[in-house]
Amino acid sequence: MNVIKNCKRIVIKVGTSTLTYGNGSLNLRRIEAFVRTVADFKNAGHEVVIVSSGAVAAGYAKMALSEYPKTLEEKQACAAVGQSQLMKMYESFFSMYGHTVAQILMTKDVVDDSHRLELVRNTFHTLIKMGCIPIVNENDSVSCDGIKFGGNDTLSAYVGIACGADIIINLSDIDGLYNKDPRKYEDAVLIDRVEVINDEIKSYAGGAGSSRGTGGMITKINAAEIAANAGIPMLIINGEDPFRLYDVLDGKHIGTYFARRK
Ligand code: GLU
Repeated sequence: MNVIKNCKRIVIKVGTSTLTYGNGSLNLRRIEAFVRTVADFKNAGHEVVIVSSGAVAAGYAKMALSEYPKTLEEKQACAAVGQSQLMKMYESFFSMYGHTVAQILMTKDVVDDSHRLELVRNTFHTLIKMGCIPIVNENDSVSCDGIKFGGNDTLSAYVGIACGADIIINLSDIDGLYNKDPRKYEDAVLIDRVEVINDEIKSYAGGAGSSRGTGGMITKINAAEIAANAGIPMLIINGEDPFRLYDVLDGKHIGTYFARRK
């Protein structure tokens, strides 16, 4: 089944572990591949909104700190430095392909307030109409609960709702949802399609992911549930090789597809 066939508006969520090396520095080769693929999605006629993490890691790398930020204050300070680094990089890579990016920083209180959510919705629609690629992150430096609400996995579901997405693609550091942790069990099986998100599905999610990302599989499943309830499907694929997005564009089935709720 070609999951993208009738999807015009696509939210693509990319996490810190995809965008950075283990030492926290930006993985430029991967980011370049990601940007090029997204640019091609646009060229093929899709409308794309990116939800990008990486601000904390980029700030940490820029300041060459001796250890990765641990406290909330340190993370917020690193995000303040790193967010502009991140946008500078997206801006320069997307410019090479003739695309314009726009930064949107969200906080939980925006999501919770229907009036403010409506304002953001209008901004998304207007930017997309103008042909821009909105790039969203949490406004980490001014908010402390953002990270609490499931990080950018959850944010991607709300962004999907706000911009009226047809699908959300979550680039993860794992191929999709397995019936048990594939890092521990050799016989773990990848689930290619989830029709209903129930307790059994949730029980498949192991612990957190890498030390640099904030989510784990459970935050992705919770995000998929929020999206599914709002009528938006979610696809989780491995972001290690961003060119795999072309497989999605070509209608090949990879990763785990969470169907929308009927
Ligand atoms: N907003 C955080 C950042 O940009 C990451 C949150 C997450 O990865 O979920 O570093």
